[in-house]
Amino acid sequence: MLCKQPKTLAHEAQLAQRANEIGLSASVLSASQVASLEPELTLDVCGGVHFHDDGHLNPSLVMQELARDLDVRHETEVKSFERRGDRVVSVNIGNERIEADEFVIATGSWSGDVAKQLGVELPMQAGKGYSMTLQSPPQLPRTSCLLVEARVAMTPMGSTLRFAGTMEIGGVDDTINPKRVQGIQESIPRYLPAFSKTFAGANTQAQPIWTGRRPVSPDGLPYVGRFAHLDNVISASGHAMLGLSLGPATGMLVRNILANKRQPFDIALLKPDRFA
Ligand SMILES: Cc1cc2nc3c(=O)[nH]c(=O)nc-3n(C[C@H](O)[C@H](O)[C@H](O)COP(=O)(O)OP(=O)(O)OC[C@H]3O[C@@H](n4cnc5c(N)ncnc54)[C@H](O)[C@@H]3O)c2cc1C
Repeated sequence: MLCKQPKTLAHEAQLAQRANEIGLSASVLSASQVASLEPELTLDVCGGVHFHDDGHLNPSLVMQELARDLDVRHETEVKSFERRGDRVVSVNIGNERIEADEFVIATGSWSGDVAKQLGVELPMQAGKGYSMTLQSPPQLPRTSCLLVEARVAMTPMGSTLRFAGTMEIGGVDDTINPKRVQGIQESIPRYLPAFSKTFAGANTQAQPIWTGRRPVSPDGLPYVGRFAHLDNVISASGHAMLGLSLGPATGMLVRNILANKRQPFDIALLKPDRFA
């Protein structure tokens, strides 16, 4: 966490203290301590917080590896479900019907619409964000950092550097709001002066902009568990800003449900029917 303002650093230090109390490892750093952790960066910050257990990854590569041994149907939409009483027996993908013993709804921001087809409520909003990846960044950090006041994440991926940010709550749409993108781009040189020309003038539009949607529930908690009135449907959705980070834990919870195993903690708070 990189902070420009002492007030923000003080707030982040409080969060670090709480994190340490619950077993995470976080240290509050001065500007010179941050600089020694990131010697390749020229930084204009007053300090930061280092979460020692945090990591970073390339989402595309992770997904490719995870999908390697699975039967993945790309560009295939589940159009409807076939039910027999409280059980779902198959999904219809247009020209084919796929039967299964168990079904997991993991359709992100679209999960509310998918659940509706089963007659169940799963309130969900899409929280749109943008990212841009520099192929030849002027400097490359060693680890991922959050530019705290700007709410922008910076992640090295090999020799490239990705910046991501903004949260626009709304429907599922792919339009790009140039003002929001500009907001991200303008905030970066305030922390990293070496990037002052990267997004300036003509360069502003030079980076292809990616947009994605975070699946956001009303209370910010994901929906993980079985639906009360459906015997063989599980929700694994609504992870908002942390879907990649929480994916492995969610996978473990879903596996435990399927195997009738005891969960490592009470997942009642995550019940998918909690707003029904
Ligand atoms: C800019 C940005 C930065 C982010 N940074 C981070 C980060 O640093 N760390 C982190 O942990 N998370 C991050 N996230 C959040 C993370 O991307 C999401 O939480 C995560 O993608 C949610 O995963 P999901 O599988 O639930 O949904 P999605 O990734 O949205 O996947 C849902 C899939 O379901 C498919 N689908 C929808 N309807 C149907 C249907 N009827 N039939 C078949 N398929 C369907 C969709 O096409 C989609 O492929 C970020 C998000 C954004 C936008």
